[in-house]
Amino acid sequence: MNHEPSTMNPKGKLVIFSAPSGAGKTTIVKHLLTKFPELEFSVSATTRQPRTDEVNDKAYHFISKEEFLHRIAKKQFVEFEEVYSGTFYGTLRSEIERIWKKGKTVIFDIDVEGGLHLKRKYNGQALAIFVQPPSLEVLKERLIARGADNGEKLKERFVKAEKELNYAPKFDIILKNHDLQTACKEAEVLVRDFLS
Ligand code: 5GP
Repeated sequence: MNHEPSTMNPKGKLVIFSAPSGAGKTTIVKHLLTKFPELEFSVSATTRQPRTDEVNDKAYHFISKEEFLHRIAKKQFVEFEEVYSGTFYGTLRSEIERIWKKGKTVIFDIDVEGGLHLKRKYNGQALAIFVQPPSLEVLKERLIARGADNGEKLKERFVKAEKELNYAPKFDIILKNHDLQTACKEAEVLVRDFLS
């Protein structure tokens, strides 16, 4: 969804990693952040509960639904989605501005719709990469092994993942993640080219 006037610095760059949940994009993004000091992660806001290893304001800004809705009303999001029913995720305009002000490139770990939205909005400034798992079956196995969700929530992630796999051709690049180490190396090459 688009929610605000376009007023941002037109010069900054963005690297967008999108994929269905479980495809490995978070690991790839974390790897790139260790390799490229010129990248900084856009910390999204979400209404979901933190997982045990997630630190507030690092993984996400964990906020209440009430606060999220208030921020929507104040037009603080560049994009947001109700990614899973009742659970919102959104990119704060202040995050992008903060990172660009430092002269850095923003890197995103974002769902497929959000990624395409940013790609359209920042056409010419963005590199949009779709991380493709070997198959839907492998993706399902990874989501089960992660153990973060079960029951209905897990089913919802499966359904969404299946839909999202069809969006791959709309991205600038499809990065296959059959082997994580190889995918990380390939991602490094793509980002190095884009930054230079
Ligand atoms: P998770 O609950 O697994 O952390 O994230 C669920 C999905 O929401 C992932 O695909 C993640 O990349 C995506 N996501 C995270 N932040 C944002 C955001 O700001 N906007 C959108 N549209 N999706 C996001």
